[in-house]
Amino acid sequence: MLKVASYVIGKKLRGQTRYPLVLMLEPLFRCNLNCEGCGKIQYPDHLLKKRVTAAQALAAAEECGAPMVSIAGGEPLLHPEIGDIVNGLIAQGRYIYLCTNALLLAKKIDTFKPDKHLSFSVHLDGLEAEHDHAVARTGAHKIVADAIRKAVAAGFRVTTNTTLFNSADPRRVRAFFDEAMALGVGDMMVSPGYAYPKAPSQEIFLSRERTITLFKKIFSRGKKHWKLNLSPNFVAFLQGKRDYDCTPWGTPTYNVFGWQKPCYLLSDGYVRTFKELMEETDWEKYGQRSGEPRCRNCMVHCGYEPSSVRDIFSFGGIFRHFAAERHNFDDNGEDPDTPMPPITSADGGADANNNDAANADDATANTPHTCCCQKPKP
Ligand code: SF4
Ligand code: SF4
Repeated sequence: MLKVASYVIGKKLRGQTRYPLVLMLEPLFRCNLNCEGCGKIQYPDHLLKKRVTAAQALAAAEECGAPMVSIAGGEPLLHPEIGDIVNGLIAQGRYIYLCTNALLLAKKIDTFKPDKHLSFSVHLDGLEAEHDHAVARTGAHKIVADAIRKAVAAGFRVTTNTTLFNSADPRRVRAFFDEAMALGVGDMMVSPGYAYPKAPSQEIFLSRERTITLFKKIFSRGKKHWKLNLSPNFVAFLQGKRDYDCTPWGTPTYNVFGWQKPCYLLSDGYVRTFKELMEETDWEKYGQRSGEPRCRNCMVHCGYEPSSVRDIFSFGGIFRHFAAERHNFDDNGEDPDTPMPPITSADGGADANNNDAANADDATANTPHTCCCQKPKP
């Protein structure tokens, strides 16, 4: 994207080493789903009723200056000012990913107008069985699929966002990619889930090694018609072909509490201004190389996609970018048609509840009830 490229080049020319790429805007935590294990809908009622106003959201976007904004939640379509927020961000010239579970998308589609700056980023966690189980609602997948078709037919750009955990079966993920493309989405975003250390079920999370094996299987001998909303370097990183550290300042988070330190997933305190966030956060304490235990297994999109983008603008980066683009779907030695190996204690989880060959046919075995915006409360 030309605008992002010129933004990054401008920052580099000014000698700025830390700059935001995507503002993660959470205008509310309330949701119309009730996924078991979701840390947002567990907030007390008075916090679920709180909202970032349209004026606050637009001021935060100006203050931060990131060229892209991801509007997450909760469910942003429940926000009474969501139309004003989106229109205001478009007027600021920002590219918006409006993340939604899509239950209300068909009903609220007329709130928006197709615009090259706006994409609906629809939460879809897999084929029907996986998605309905993940969001704990039978029939949710059908509603989402119908909403995607309607939005695409109305001229909107639609992308999917999918989070994978230990239960992921690479064969079914590949089938899901085929299905999503057939629905007419422009492209697909996929990320490993964040292994939150305090979560009661550690066995649902992917270790770093297991994440790499999973994504190698998913992308090995990948299909040409799959369009990914991921930078080629990030796809290479997920397959273990690149070794990046995290760039937490690349995706700063603003919500009803203020600016969240240090990233979308961890909440080590809040500050009032973006300047305070950038200047007062001890960034060296975070990332997989820092020794911070909460970052050890993290390979999530919001932390490592900015690292992948930064790489493009470093020495030789453009060649790595094009090489990754060319070879990401090559045969990488992992057989995509076989299930994941059994989970061991080294995978960061219990030996129980694994998704080895014995239960690979149970599509919903051990699927966590969290979505891409999964984040336990602080
Ligand atoms: S490694 Fe993950 S958890 Fe740690 S700062 Fe980066 S995004 Fe946050
Ligand atoms: S996990 Fe996501 S979709 Fe589910 S209740 Fe929480 S915010 Fe809503």
